[in-house]
Amino acid sequence: PPLLLWFRNDLRPGDNPAFAAAVATATEQKTSLIAFYCHDETSPSFRPLGGAVRWWLHQSLTALGADLAAYGIPLVLRQGAAATVVPSLVTETGARQLFWNRRYEAAEIAVDTALKADLTARGVQVASSNAALLVEPWEVKTGQGKPFQVFSPFWKTARPLAANRAPLPQPPVQRLSEAPAVASDALAAWGFLPTRPDWAAGLREAWTPGSAGAQARLSQFLMTALKSYADRRDRPDLPATSGLSPHLRFGEIGPRQIWAATDLACQGQLTERGPESFTRELGWREFSYHLLYHQPQIATRPIRAQFEAFPWQADEAVLRAWQKGLTGYPIVDAGMRQLWQTGWMHNRVRMLVGSLLVKHLLQPWQAGEEWFWDTLVDADPASNPASWQWVAGCGADAAPYFRIFNPVLQGEKFDPEGDYVRRWVPELARMPAAFIHKPWDAPTLVLREAGVQLGHTYPKPCIGLSEGRDRALAAFHALSPAE
Ligand code: FAD
Repeated sequence: PPLLLWFRNDLRPGDNPAFAAAVATATEQKTSLIAFYCHDETSPSFRPLGGAVRWWLHQSLTALGADLAAYGIPLVLRQGAAATVVPSLVTETGARQLFWNRRYEAAEIAVDTALKADLTARGVQVASSNAALLVEPWEVKTGQGKPFQVFSPFWKTARPLAANRAPLPQPPVQRLSEAPAVASDALAAWGFLPTRPDWAAGLREAWTPGSAGAQARLSQFLMTALKSYADRRDRPDLPATSGLSPHLRFGEIGPRQIWAATDLACQGQLTERGPESFTRELGWREFSYHLLYHQPQIATRPIRAQFEAFPWQADEAVLRAWQKGLTGYPIVDAGMRQLWQTGWMHNRVRMLVGSLLVKHLLQPWQAGEEWFWDTLVDADPASNPASWQWVAGCGADAAPYFRIFNPVLQGEKFDPEGDYVRRWVPELARMPAAFIHKPWDAPTLVLREAGVQLGHTYPKPCIGLSEGRDRALAAFHALSPAE
């Protein structure tokens, strides 16, 4: 009988332990291999994918199909609860062996555990591996044997392990035995692509989903930006970061591959500033998964329980203005529009838009998390909620509540010429650098020459900076007086 290989968040042929094991076993047994992807939004507590990620997934599955075709492996698409879809595929194909790489969300773990038990009881061998992480969440513990809550000690313990995880080579391309035909959904029928309006034009322009696109981005980054990464990574006006996050989201590239390529690019000098700082960011991704695994409710519930009682002032109109990039704070509006147009936002700007939303505007962090979930091409079940909780101050290793970003000072520091704002907020394109982050301070003549009419062509600030700051400090202080 053919072997089965279940692709999930590991849509790549290289450094993919399940794929490598399945190809090796099929070759040895002189049998065929059927790969499948199950689009599952019906299993209990599964979180439906956001719009931008669906667009990405459509392209990514297309690219994976082409990668697999070189081996003669069909990619079967099925929709429905995995607990039904997978056993039915096993029955249809008569397969006795199934390969997959692990997932880390509680609901997914529950499904995988039950399936493994069910299939094993029916004599089907299930082999699971790790394609997604440098360090499994249960591999590292504090001195007290507990999960980590703070990044630095986590990374101190995890980094030496991470540094030793060599990627698996991609199996040499060879045509396996021909697989029997199995019914498959048509990808188009899943409706992942926008119809009208077509909001994906900016996404198509910005990205090349798929493992080849991921490798190209990695090479480009290593050649042009690794060395200066530590000094320039906070600058949204420069192409200073890797842009690998959406490729990592569905595992078109794995962290072991990134680590090894970085090591090679800097000739083993991983402790130099650029490579050290870049690999540390990969560490934050690992830490997010560590948190998600040990505290599975992080997408909806604050890690610090006292935040359950926080007096958020949820307001639809305020949230809308933020979502549309119409807050009147240029760096924030630039970020929100970059997000809408490209599905991605620079990390520093994510922190600024998040801080304005939850602190100055007192909107619940979950509302920001959900908007990001729907609009980011890298929307990640671990990094998105963990980062939002960090911004809101209710997370594990969070920013202290009294650290409230000032979007004007931050803009002046990290977008000194205002080029980032000019690019994404064209209404301000002709504002001089001295006022681009605070157009309300510009003399009338400057505004007139720049063609800016505050309150008409570009909004006035939706809240005064010190008013918002004082209000937030009072609310947060009431909750965390001890800090
Ligand atoms: P690089 O600077 O090139 O970093 C390399 C890789 O390291 C990234 O691709 C990413 O996988 C990882 N990484 C970097 N910074 C972080 C971080 N702070 N936390 C976790 N991993 C990190 N990242 C996501 O991948 N998905 C999300 O849904 C997400 N939501 C976020 C929400 C908020 C409010 C904030 C503040 C940050 C969020 N991040 C998220 C983290 C970070 O902003 C992005 O990973 C980063 O901007 C991606 O760009 P890059 O690939 O060029 O990063």
